[in-house]
Amino acid sequence: MKILVIGSGGREHALAWRLAQSPRVQKVLVAPGNAGTAREDGVENLPLTAVADLVAFAQAEKIYATVVGPEAPLAAGVVDAFRAAGLRIFGPTRAAAQLESSKDFAKRFMLRHGIPTAKFATFSAAAEAHAYVDSEGAPIVIKADGLAAGKGVVVAMSLAEAHAAIDRMLVDNKLGISFDSGARVVIEEFLDGEEASFIVMADGTNALPLATSQDHKRLQDGDRGPNTGGMGAYSPAPVVTPKIHASVMREVILPTLGGMAKDGITYTGFLYAGLMIHADGSVRVVEFNCRLGDPETQPILMRLKSDLLDLVDAGIDGRLGSVEAAWDRRVALGVVMAAAGYPDAPRRGDIVHGLPRATEDSHVFHAGTAQLDGAVVASGGRVLCVTALGDNVRAAQKRAYEVAEPIRFDGMQMRRDIGHRAIAARTS
Ligand code: AMP
Repeated sequence: MKILVIGSGGREHALAWRLAQSPRVQKVLVAPGNAGTAREDGVENLPLTAVADLVAFAQAEKIYATVVGPEAPLAAGVVDAFRAAGLRIFGPTRAAAQLESSKDFAKRFMLRHGIPTAKFATFSAAAEAHAYVDSEGAPIVIKADGLAAGKGVVVAMSLAEAHAAIDRMLVDNKLGISFDSGARVVIEEFLDGEEASFIVMADGTNALPLATSQDHKRLQDGDRGPNTGGMGAYSPAPVVTPKIHASVMREVILPTLGGMAKDGITYTGFLYAGLMIHADGSVRVVEFNCRLGDPETQPILMRLKSDLLDLVDAGIDGRLGSVEAAWDRRVALGVVMAAAGYPDAPRRGDIVHGLPRATEDSHVFHAGTAQLDGAVVASGGRVLCVTALGDNVRAAQKRAYEVAEPIRFDGMQMRRDIGHRAIAARTS
């Protein structure tokens, strides 16, 4: 059977790679894909992005099932359109995807259903936002309400920073975000703790938790420099102990699925809860994403031993309550290689040299790459995610950097310390 994966990043490369290993799968098509998916065994790129074209293709080619990677097609209603055409697709509807596409929607939802999250207020008038920040004090967090590719959040350590962020988002609208009904900011209490990603597959009622993971958002070693989409990730996340795992399912995941169903917006698809775990073990939701994380997906899927298509089928058919996922006991760690100028102005066109072959314990997932005259060139901010397995986090880290070693492109940026928190946790 043929499977369609929508998207073009490292997450989609990892999804396509895993799906292609299912004995039931004859071919995985990735729309539009990248140079990595073009070169993967059993995987082919499809140069389509418009929802109507994807529906027409899936019907004409008798695609068995479709998996959606990124948020933009979800927010554009790709799941609604596929379902209306009688096609099997795993992802949330446009209405359900508001959990990610509107921070205000997500915060109100959590408040209504008693899901633990930071105290917040929403503003469209700059003067009121400034006054609120003055009354609350710093540190405080300012978020643009709308999809901003991870760039719409300012964790302001001082009042001056907070005021500047409000002006940038509400007065100048420098982020270039398209707002449906005027610019809004969500202002949030600063949460202290360690972050972890908790991702489940949801079928409306049941949730199947995937392996836990943690990513590194800052550009430079030591978690310094600007925020990015993620410079590396590893799985599992040691901070998510079995006790915390149980409380996340009980306090966050199941009430979220129950709350959505109660509100009449059944949630299906991957659901990503970005969590802040306080030193006292309490958990609060920083954000929801209605899709898998990137780069977390790469190490998570590197560890998946079950047939991914079987899980996707269970998700589409409402059977996630009766399946389990098997995981490699090893740790997986992925290191992002980013383009010159990332995250502000990534340079395109640099030729990528020295790409190694995949091995049993390593895979180089492509994110922003394209093929040009037989060469692989950088075509986006995050270019590659070099992912490897090891018996512990230190071994996985060593192996990932070994695999990354021969890969070269001009201006390449790569952190040297992915996994440092997990290593510190093991040795403390
Ligand atoms: P978001 O897009 O909401 O996930 O925010 C991006 C990043 O900003 C998160 O991964 C956190 O590192 C940080 N952040 C967001 N909200 C808070 C908060 N309330 N307290 C502390 N850090 C936060």
